[in-house]
Amino acid sequence: MKTKKKVIVIGAGFGGLQVVHTLANRKDFEVIVIDKTNHHLFQPLLYQVATAVLSPADIAIPTRSITTNYKNVKLYMARVDKIDFETNEVYFGNGKETYDFLVIATGAQTSYFGNEEWKKHTFGLKNLKDALAIRRQILLSFEEAELSGDPEKIEQMLNYVIIGGGPTGVELAGSIAELSHNIIRKDFRIIDSANTKVTLIEAGPRLLSNFHEDLSEFTKKKLEERGVEILLNSPVKSIDADGIELTNRKIKSKTVIWAAGVEAAGITRALPFSKDRSGRLIVDGYCRISEKPNVYVIGDAASFSYNMKRPLPGVSPVAMQQGRFVASFLRNGLDESRMRPFTYFDKGNMATIGRTDAVAEFSIFRLKGFFGWMGWLFVHLVYQVGFKNKMSTLLSWIWSYLTFRAGARLIQEEINEPKQL
Ligand SMILES: Cc1cc2nc3c(=O)[nH]c(=O)nc-3n(C[C@H](O)[C@H](O)[C@H](O)COP(=O)(O)OP(=O)(O)OC[C@H]3O[C@@H](n4cnc5c(N)ncnc54)[C@H](O)[C@@H]3O)c2cc1C
Repeated sequence: MKTKKKVIVIGAGFGGLQVVHTLANRKDFEVIVIDKTNHHLFQPLLYQVATAVLSPADIAIPTRSITTNYKNVKLYMARVDKIDFETNEVYFGNGKETYDFLVIATGAQTSYFGNEEWKKHTFGLKNLKDALAIRRQILLSFEEAELSGDPEKIEQMLNYVIIGGGPTGVELAGSIAELSHNIIRKDFRIIDSANTKVTLIEAGPRLLSNFHEDLSEFTKKKLEERGVEILLNSPVKSIDADGIELTNRKIKSKTVIWAAGVEAAGITRALPFSKDRSGRLIVDGYCRISEKPNVYVIGDAASFSYNMKRPLPGVSPVAMQQGRFVASFLRNGLDESRMRPFTYFDKGNMATIGRTDAVAEFSIFRLKGFFGWMGWLFVHLVYQVGFKNKMSTLLSWIWSYLTFRAGARLIQEEINEPKQL
C-alpha cells in the first residue's frame, strides 16, 4: 500500500518555499520542487540591484542550498510547460513526474495591459535579468553622455522615465535620483549628472494608491524634494524607441522603465480553469481549484477572494501564508473539520523613498520619514532568506549610508567589442 503522498510544487518563490519548509523531512510526504531558475529571489530589493546599491548575490540564494538538509525534497531546475490534470502529470524539459497533490506557485510577470509592443521599448523589473539590464542601461547612459558632446543627445540619455506610481515605481524613482544627483556626481568631468531628469508617471490621481492619502502626499513631496518630476493623472498613450507620449506631452528618453502592473505568469494563463482579469486562477477557501481538489494555487498565481469583497493583493506575505496553510492542510489529512478556510493576516504596507525616508502603515498606526525608513530596513532584513544575504545586505547598506557610494556599479560587457581583423 502506498503511504507516502507525492507533492509537486511548481515555483520556489515566496509561496512555494513555504510549502517546502513546512513539509520538509516528513516521512509521509515526498516533495518535488520545479523552478525555471536555480535561486529563490527576494524581489522587494530588486530595485536596489537595478540601481547598483546591491549585487545580485545579495538578494538571491540557490534553492539547492536551502533544501540541502531536506531529505524528502527533490529539486529540478526546469520550466514546466504542460500539466495533464487527467493523469496528474507535470511535464518539464525532457522529464515528467506524477503527483498526488500539485501546488502551483508560479508567481506573476510584467503586464503591459494588452500593449505588447511597448515591451521592446521599456525595461520591466521582475527578475535578476531585468534588474541587471536596468543597471547596465543606467550606468551606460552616463558613460555615453560623457562621450557624446551633443547636448540634445545628452539630455535624452539622462532622461529617465518610470511608469507606475506604486511601491516599485516610487522606490526606483527615489533611488535613480539619489544615484545621479548625489552618488556619482563627483565621478564625471564633462557631464553634470545632477542635470539628470527622473520623471515618475502615474495614470491615477495619486502615488501609492493602496496607502493612506497622507502617506501618498508625503511620498510625493519627498520625491519632489529629491528632484523627481511627478506626473499624476497621466495615462501613457504610446511608447517608442525615442520615448513616450502622454495626452499633452512627449518625453524623449532612452530609459523607460515599466512598473505599472503584473499579471499571472505564462503557464498559469494557459490552464483550463476560471481566471480573473489578471489571468490568476480562481481558488476556493482552501486555495484549491474547485474542479480539481488535489490542485492548489497560491501567491501571485492565485485569485483568492473567499469571504472577501476583493481578491487578496499580490504581495509576499499572502504567498508565504498561503504556502504554510496549504502544506499544513496536507499534513492534517485534508480534514476540513480540523482546519478552517484560509484567512490572511495583513501585516501592513511599506515603501521606501530614499535615504532616511520611507512610509509604512500597519492596522493601527502609520509611520513616515526616518522611523518609517528604520522600520522598512528592519523588515526587509528580517525577511531576506539566508544569514549570508542578510549580513551582506546590511553591510552594503551601512557602507552606502556612511560613504554616499553605491557598491555594485559594474557594467559587465566591454564597450563596442573590437571587430576581428
Ligand atoms: C520589483 C518588485 C518589488 C516587490 N516588492 C514587494 C514588497 O516590497 N513587498 C511585498 O510584499 N511584495 C513585493 N513584491 C511582490 C512579491 O515579490 C510577490 O508577491 C511574491 O514574490 C509572490 O510570491 P509567489 O511565490 O507567488 O511568486 P514568486 O516569488 O514570483 O515565485 C514564482 C516562482 O515560480 C517560478 N516559475 C514561474 N513559472 C514557472 C514555470 N513555468 N516553470 C517553473 N518555474 C516557474 C519562478 O522562477 C519563481 O521562482 C514585489 C515584486 C516585484 C517584482
